[in-house]
Amino acid sequence: MNTHRMYINGEFVDSSDGKTISVENPASEEQFAQVPAATSEDVDRAVRAAREAFDSGPWPRMSQKERIAKLMTLVAAMKAREAELYSIESEQSGIPIRKTTLMDIPVGIEMFRTMVEQSDFPLYEPLPWTDFPKVSWNFVQREPIGVCAGISAWNFPWIFTMWKSAPALAMGNTLVFKPASYTPLTSLEFAKIVRECDFPPGVVNVVTGSGSTVGADLCTHPLVDKVSFTGSTEVGQQVQQMTAGTLKRITLELGGKSANIIMDDAYLDLSAEAALFACFFNAGQSCEAGARLLVQDGIYDEFMASMLERANTITVGDPADFETTMGPLISDSQRARVESYIQSAHDEGATLLFGGGRTAGLDRGYYIDPTIFTGVTPEMKIFREEIFGPVLAVTRFKTRDEAIKLANDSMYGLGGAVWTRDLQKGIEMAKAVRTGTVWVNDYHLLNANAPFGGYKMSGTGHEMSTYALKEYTEMKHIHVDLMGDNRDDKFWMDYTVNRE
Ligand code: NAD
Repeated sequence: MNTHRMYINGEFVDSSDGKTISVENPASEEQFAQVPAATSEDVDRAVRAAREAFDSGPWPRMSQKERIAKLMTLVAAMKAREAELYSIESEQSGIPIRKTTLMDIPVGIEMFRTMVEQSDFPLYEPLPWTDFPKVSWNFVQREPIGVCAGISAWNFPWIFTMWKSAPALAMGNTLVFKPASYTPLTSLEFAKIVRECDFPPGVVNVVTGSGSTVGADLCTHPLVDKVSFTGSTEVGQQVQQMTAGTLKRITLELGGKSANIIMDDAYLDLSAEAALFACFFNAGQSCEAGARLLVQDGIYDEFMASMLERANTITVGDPADFETTMGPLISDSQRARVESYIQSAHDEGATLLFGGGRTAGLDRGYYIDPTIFTGVTPEMKIFREEIFGPVLAVTRFKTRDEAIKLANDSMYGLGGAVWTRDLQKGIEMAKAVRTGTVWVNDYHLLNANAPFGGYKMSGTGHEMSTYALKEYTEMKHIHVDLMGDNRDDKFWMDYTVNRE
C-alpha cells in the first residue's frame, strides 16, 4: 500500500489528525494507496498559506513574462515525468492505459502549455476617449483575483488538475486544489513536480479529503476569493449557495445530457462510429457525452445497423491492457446508479438493443457493457437525467425542427453535435441548440483555444482559452485626470463647495 502526503505551503504533510482515505483501483477493487483525509484545520492552513503567498509573496508581483517563463519550466518538468503518470492515472480511475497514454496525460499538459502561452495578452486595456469627463485617461487594468480554490471531479483527474491550475497561476493567483476523493494521486504527482520546480511556498497547495469537509470549507472560507468547481449539478448548486455568503467569484462546470443529432445526409459510417465514441468514451463518464442520440427517419435503419456492427468492436476489459478501449466505472455505487437507470429504461418501455448489464467474464471490477436503448421518449428518465455511464438513449425524429426541440428539451446545456454533409444546415442547427459547445461532424474535441462551459443547469463560467483566463482576473477601471491644477474643468466643484 502506497502512502501519500498532501502539499501545503511547500511541504508534504499528513492530515492534522493522522486520518487517511483509501484509493481503490476500480478494475481490481483493491485499495492500493492512502492519502490524507484533510481536516478543517488543514484546509485553513492551506488557504492561509495561499493568502500569504498572494498578499506578500513574489508570484502575483512578477511580470507576466517572468510568470510564463516559470510555468514553462513546470511544463517541461511535467513532460519529463509524463510516462510515470500514465499508469497512476489509469490505476486510480479505471481509464484504459491506452487513453491515459495517448490522450489524458499528454493532452492535459499541452492544454496547460497553451493556456500559459495564451496568458501573454495585455493586462492593460485602454477605454474609448470621450468628451466627458474632460481630458482624462481611462483604462482597465486586469489583476489577479487572489486565492483560487479548484474542486474537481474524478472522470478526468489529470486534465482537470491542468484546467484548474493553468489559468489560476498564469494570471498571478495562488491556488488550493482539491482533487476528487476517488482520484487524488496524479494531482499529488503534480504537487511533487511543482516542488521540484521550486515554486514559492503557498502558490500551489493540493489538499486531499472529502467533499463535505475540504470542498465545503474551501467554499465558505473567507480568505478564498474564487472557487472553480467541476462536478455534479446537485453539488454545484450547494457550491453556489455556500460561496454566496462571501460573494466569491465562481466557475461551475456541471452535468450534462447532450444530444448527438444524425441528419439524413450524414456520412453514414463516420457518424455511426462517432455516435459510439460520443457516448461510450471514458465508459460514458464524461460530462459532455452524447448520451441522447437523435436519428432522422430517412437514415435510421441503415445508421442503426452500422452502429450496431461497430458496437461489437468495443473492447471492455482490464484498463492496464493496451487493447482495452473501455474500462470499468469508477466505483460500486456508480455502477449501482447506472444499473438503476438501465432498470428504469426497461420499466418505462424502452427497447434494449445492445448490452444491458455487467460484462460477462469480468468478476472483479465495476464493469458495465456499453448499452443501447431505442424507442426512448422525452418523458423517460434515461432521456432526461444524467446517467454518467455507458448508456445510450436513441430517439427517432422526422424534421430538423423536431430535432432541435428534442435537443433543447433538457435542463442541461453542455455539449452536443450535428452530423450532416450540408455545413450551412449544420451551423444553423448548431446555433439553435442551447448549449455551450456544439460540434458539426465531430465530437468531444476540446481545444484549449476555445472556451468550454455550460448553458442552463450545466453551469456558469468557462474552462480554457483567453475567456477562462480572464475569469481569473478582476477588472479595475483606472481614471487619470490630465488637467493638472485646473479647477474650472472639474465639473463636480459646484456640487459640494460654493465657489464665488
Ligand atoms: P461530485 O459533484 O460528486 O463531486 C465533485 C467534487 O466536489 C469532488 O471533488 C467532491 O469531493 C466535491 N464535493 C462533494 N461534495 C461537496 C460539497 N458539499 N462541497 C464542496 N465540494 C464537494 O461529482 P463527481 O461525481 O465527482 O463527478 C461527476 C459529475 O461531474 C457529473 O455530473 C459530471 O457531468 C460532472 N462533470 C462536469 C464537467 C464539466 O466540465 N462540465 C466535467 C466533468 C464532470
